[in-house]
Amino acid sequence: MNQLTLSTDLISRDIQPVKSERKPPSRAYLDKRVTKSQRENQRTRSQRARERLQTKEHLSRLAVGLGEVELADKLQRCHSRLSVLTCGRHIARIIPNFTCEFRLCPDCGRRRSRKLQNKYLPAMRAFMLHNKVTPVHLVLTQTHQKENRKQSAKRIRDAFTKLQRREFWKKHFKGGTWSLEFAKDKNGLHHTHLHIIGFRRKFFAVELLRSEWLAVTGDSHVLHLKPILDLAAGLREVVKYVSKPLDIRRFGAEDLKEFLELKNMRMFGTFGEFRNFCKDFEPSDNEAAAVGELESFSRDLVEGCACPQCNQPLFDLRMSKGELPQFYEQMESSPPGEARGS
Ligand SMILES: [Zn+2]
Ligand SMILES: [Zn+2]
Repeated sequence: MNQLTLSTDLISRDIQPVKSERKPPSRAYLDKRVTKSQRENQRTRSQRARERLQTKEHLSRLAVGLGEVELADKLQRCHSRLSVLTCGRHIARIIPNFTCEFRLCPDCGRRRSRKLQNKYLPAMRAFMLHNKVTPVHLVLTQTHQKENRKQSAKRIRDAFTKLQRREFWKKHFKGGTWSLEFAKDKNGLHHTHLHIIGFRRKFFAVELLRSEWLAVTGDSHVLHLKPILDLAAGLREVVKYVSKPLDIRRFGAEDLKEFLELKNMRMFGTFGEFRNFCKDFEPSDNEAAAVGELESFSRDLVEGCACPQCNQPLFDLRMSKGELPQFYEQMESSPPGEARGS
């Protein structure tokens, strides 16, 4: 009941009907939970870099245990030596010696999700300009069942396909993107979440969508819906699951084995009218540059160029993977008033 009220409140804050009979959202119902991404943003760069190293060590050990020696070796070599373009206070660019491209590798995942952001953000902005739609972040959930990851993912994607065929959905949504987040509860039961950036044509009461979801799943009415106020941040949150489809800290050998069997499963996609729009969409140079921010022009930076953040000359610092967190730490402890590294 609590969740139901919560989501309705979030929507009513998004679009306020002119003659609303709804009372203003009570403070008690506002979402005080700290989301996973908020927690992640609170950690420093050095902490995150260190966690990426630990994750890779963990995955590599699991791979050895499974006899996947080649995978373990690739993970060890990935980003093991780095060429860091820095002014001493900021990092403008990091060039790794090797990238493993393994789906669960946190370094390769970061690069993959940046690529997706650079590709889809200009398309989303253009789509919104051409259509009168508002972006929302919708999380569809399913009941926990005794099945494997693949079956669980198929179950939720099939339900979503059914949902898209329904009149209610067509009337209220004009397409968007989806990505998968895998989860396993403490009893070992799988459940998958579908994170959707949906382009909403018009406001609706979330209870109606809940009953639609129940109609197609047969057993689940749980979903979360919130307006996206900052499209770039919204997309970042959703593509994060492409780089981090599950909680790797609690990942065991069996999980890795099962994940390796998923090989070709798609983790991200577009749907509806947005899907067709993307097929023909070519961003102009301006749009592409505006989106890539540091990423797009940092590709052209070399030693001797000016640091984009402070104009000091950049130099090339060679380091091993273990030295990167320390380097971030040095930058983080630089005297107050000085800008932090990128
Ligand atoms: Zn990698
Ligand atoms: Zn600088």
